[in-house]
Parts: sequence; structure tokens; C-alpha cells
Amino acid sequence: MRLIDTHCHLDFDAYDAVRDSIVREAAEAGVTRIINPGTDLARSRAAVGLADAYPGVYAAVGIHPNSTADFDEPMLDALREMAAHPKVIAIGEIGLDYYRDNSPRAQQWRAFEAQLALAADLGLPVIIHNREASDDVLDILAAWTPTLPGALRDRPGVLHSFSAPQSAAERGLAIGFYLGFTGPVTFKKADDLRRIAARVPLDRVLVETDGPFLTPEPRRGRWPNKPAYVRYIAERVAALHTLPDDAFAAQTTANAERLFALPTPAD
Ligand SMILES: [Zn+2]
Repeated sequence: MRLIDTHCHLDFDAYDAVRDSIVREAAEAGVTRIINPGTDLARSRAAVGLADAYPGVYAAVGIHPNSTADFDEPMLDALREMAAHPKVIAIGEIGLDYYRDNSPRAQQWRAFEAQLALAADLGLPVIIHNREASDDVLDILAAWTPTLPGALRDRPGVLHSFSAPQSAAERGLAIGFYLGFTGPVTFKKADDLRRIAARVPLDRVLVETDGPFLTPEPRRGRWPNKPAYVRYIAERVAALHTLPDDAFAAQTTANAERLFALPTPAD
């Protein structure tokens, strides 16, 4: 089973002592590609560094809503410079987070809209973080997608670690977004989320670990989560679609290659 972990914070300290072995273990498990999103300027730079260091690692650069308190124009310029790297395949993770209040909402909006404009300008898809902010996130995205160049219209981005209501899934899908599923889709009490995952069109599903967080069943509770575990998420979503694991893996891998314009490996 060949899979892409479309969202793992490989640059986080949790991996410092084990990064090489975790990347190797992932490759041995068929997870030969990992996308490392940025969360602030330093972490975006670290993600680009890891993309340089590991052939299968790709980076996204962006300022996470919780880190937008001091967002300013020079930060946007720095992101633009980093995004020129050939292995930067998206702007992210960006969005709104009303669960934590590290940054005032007006500032989160400002940073979100500025980074969406940057993505449109650069022709890159976006990786969206949404926590308890579905209405505002989707209003902003619905206003943004019509401004996109044609090549991005059918691959604007992913609603990462999807955990919002069905209505938000429908709004996101209607404007071309993919939905990313993480460990919670395997959790015992997540029937609502599984109902959503079961209804997402197969050509819009991504799997991701969001490592080091959200370790899936049957490894829930282990720290850190890691890319090799993305198979547990894939197997669970495959079953919801009553598809064989291999067929589902091929489909979701093709989805990630299309969304992020990743080169298809030669094998
Ligand atoms: Zn994340």
C-alpha cells in the first residue's frame, strides 16, 4: 500500500531524536512522501530545510492562526521568498482558530486573507486550519476561489484534519476543496465524522497524520504520532467506502499528487 502523509509536522521537537528512523520506517511502510506544513516563519524555514534533507519530504510555508499575533508585511515577503523553493508545494497551514485565543480574530483574518492572496499570486494551493470557525473560514474561502487563476480552480486546497459539520464539508466540496482525514476518524466516538468521511467523493479524500498529534487507533495514546501510522486512517476510510485498501490507497495518493502537483514516482 503506497500512501502520502499529506500533513505531518516533521520539523517539531518531538521528532528531533527520531526523525531519521521515522522517515525510514515510513518509507518501509510504503509512505514514501510526507508533506510538512509550516506554522510560523521559523517552522516554515525548518520545513523547507527538511524538504532539502529528505527526498520524500515536501514543504508548505505559512503562518498558523495561533501564531498571527505579530503578523506583518515583512512576514509575507519572507513567505514569498521561501515559496520559491521547488519543494514548497502549498501555502499552509493557514486559517482561523476560535478555540484558542492566542491572536485576536481581526488579526487572524488579516493574516488569513493576506496569505490566501499570496497563494493565488504564486499559483499554490492552500492547507486550511479551521477550529470552531467554519462559517467564517468558508465565507472567506468562497470569496477567494473566484479570484483564482484557472489552473488552481479545481485544486484550491484542503480542509485539513476535517472536524467540522456536514454542512461545512458540503460548502468546501462545492468550491473545489479536498477534505483531509486524521486520527479522529478512527476514534470510537467519532460516528458523525465517519458519516462525513463516508460521503466525501473519492476523488476529494486525503489522509494525513497531523503528527506528532492525533495518533490513530489502534495506537491511540502513543507519542509522537508518525507518518507510518497514516495507513490506519486509510484503512478506516477505505472500509467506510467499502473499497479494498489498495484501491483506496491508490486513489488518495493520486488525489494528493493532483492537489499538490507532486511528481509521480518512477516505480
Ligand atoms: Zn497541523
